[in-house]
Amino acid sequence: MQDKLFIDGQWVAPADGMTLPVIDPATEEVFHEIAAAGAAEADTAVKAAREAFDHGPWPRLPGKERAKYLRAMAQGIRDRLPELARMETRDNGKPLPESEWDLADAAGCFDFYADLAEELDGEVEEVKLGDARFISKAVREPLGVAVAIVPWNYPLLMASWKVAPALAAGCTMILKPAETTSLTALELGVIADAAGLPKGVLNILSGKGSVVGQALIEHSHVDKVAFTGSGPVGSRIMAAGAKDIKRISLELGGKSPFVVFADSDIEKAVEWIMFGIFWNQGQVCSATSRVLVEAPLYPKLLERLVKEAKKIKMGNGLDAGTLLGPLVNKGQYEDVLRHIDRAVEQGATVVCGGKYDGFDKGFWVTPTILTDMALDSDAWVEEIFGPVVCIRPFETEEEAIRLANDSRFGLAAAVMSADDERCERVAAAFRAGIVWINCSQPTFTEAPWGGYKQSGIGRELGRWGLDNYLETKQITRLVSDEPWAWYLKD
Ligand code: NAD
Repeated sequence: MQDKLFIDGQWVAPADGMTLPVIDPATEEVFHEIAAAGAAEADTAVKAAREAFDHGPWPRLPGKERAKYLRAMAQGIRDRLPELARMETRDNGKPLPESEWDLADAAGCFDFYADLAEELDGEVEEVKLGDARFISKAVREPLGVAVAIVPWNYPLLMASWKVAPALAAGCTMILKPAETTSLTALELGVIADAAGLPKGVLNILSGKGSVVGQALIEHSHVDKVAFTGSGPVGSRIMAAGAKDIKRISLELGGKSPFVVFADSDIEKAVEWIMFGIFWNQGQVCSATSRVLVEAPLYPKLLERLVKEAKKIKMGNGLDAGTLLGPLVNKGQYEDVLRHIDRAVEQGATVVCGGKYDGFDKGFWVTPTILTDMALDSDAWVEEIFGPVVCIRPFETEEEAIRLANDSRFGLAAAVMSADDERCERVAAAFRAGIVWINCSQPTFTEAPWGGYKQSGIGRELGRWGLDNYLETKQITRLVSDEPWAWYLKD
């Protein structure tokens, strides 16, 4: 496990020697210390990335050459997958099979963007002009030095969603993982180094968001900030970037609806509702945390959901059979419990769930189902980011759509019905960037990911993810011998 920072191809300790503890959320054991970078290290890393971009080989390499490094990094992740997955689970708490799944996806992300890097070679779009005296073309180029700031819920996967397209595009990058879950992101430095990535192309700084994160987003030599995390930090990034017009892409939170019509298969509905909110302990930006059920199905579905939720096996993510691990840290645990208490104060009923005291140590919240929330209550409106689902009945399709869209967020939405036309109609009416029909949460590297409204700006993944790290240049050439004769008329 790394305890230094990866800057300009070297592992270095922070000048002031600051560290952060690494705590296993299942046992509260401090099992490692990581380096906490400060403003000085932010500046050194940005200078290294700037130098690598302005004078190094990376942005000038053909895409097919960059692709080789990306594929080597994908392989580097795969080669160490069992070890990295255990590290992720100890750091974050999630069940081991989920960590294995995340890391396989992270490797796949590097392979996917390796393919797109190859496609960039020779990519020139002829622009059709209405004027025959000129021809014009559009070419795409890497936009410069990018900063990636990522959260703790999918530590290496969220990092890969940014590092892989940035490197494929030819950008250089500084990655700032979340302070609670930096271990696998730091290992990406080891993997990049083993892949032979030129120095300065990828720099990795663990440390506090308010210190090193803030220094990075304010740095005048940074061209782009790609962020996944909370709305308030997203706002700060926009404000900091406004000063020198940085490119900004944001993946923020959500309060996503899941609309279930009465003609749905109840088994499938219960399965996908549970996957939509209890997977990763509900610490998922796209979690379908507001469930709307057509009235005739509501009582039966609620009864079945409660029965199944109570059966979910909680435990240390490293133990076989665990389906729900601890929340990521004490702060998040206390936050989720505060949300549940507040829901009760505001009139909601806790049908099942809440705090769990069955283990001596760790940050445990049982699968929680809330009913009877007012539409303006915090539980219905605010993101809880834990295994807490709000469920209520509806009468008509119009009402379901209105309630689903009545949110300042617009990240994801799901609909379930046996009627395909109705599903398509509701999918079209949702104001959300990601819509699932008859399921919730499946995510693919090839498909666009991002939110409407206050859930973010821009799209990650797929070819849209690459666009985040490219500038488009117009090159127009005069091809006519006719004189222009605006000034030089004679
Ligand atoms: P957070 O915003 O506190 O932290 C995210 C990252 O930002 C961390 O790396 C943190 O160190 C850094 N950061 C904090 N303050 C900063 C500052 N002043 N300047 C620069 N960087 C700073 O959020 P979190 O607690 O890590 O994650 C939970 C939130 O993230 C939830 O609201 C969730 O919805 C959201 N999220 C969204 C997505 C998505 O895809 N849209 C994915 C995961 C999480």
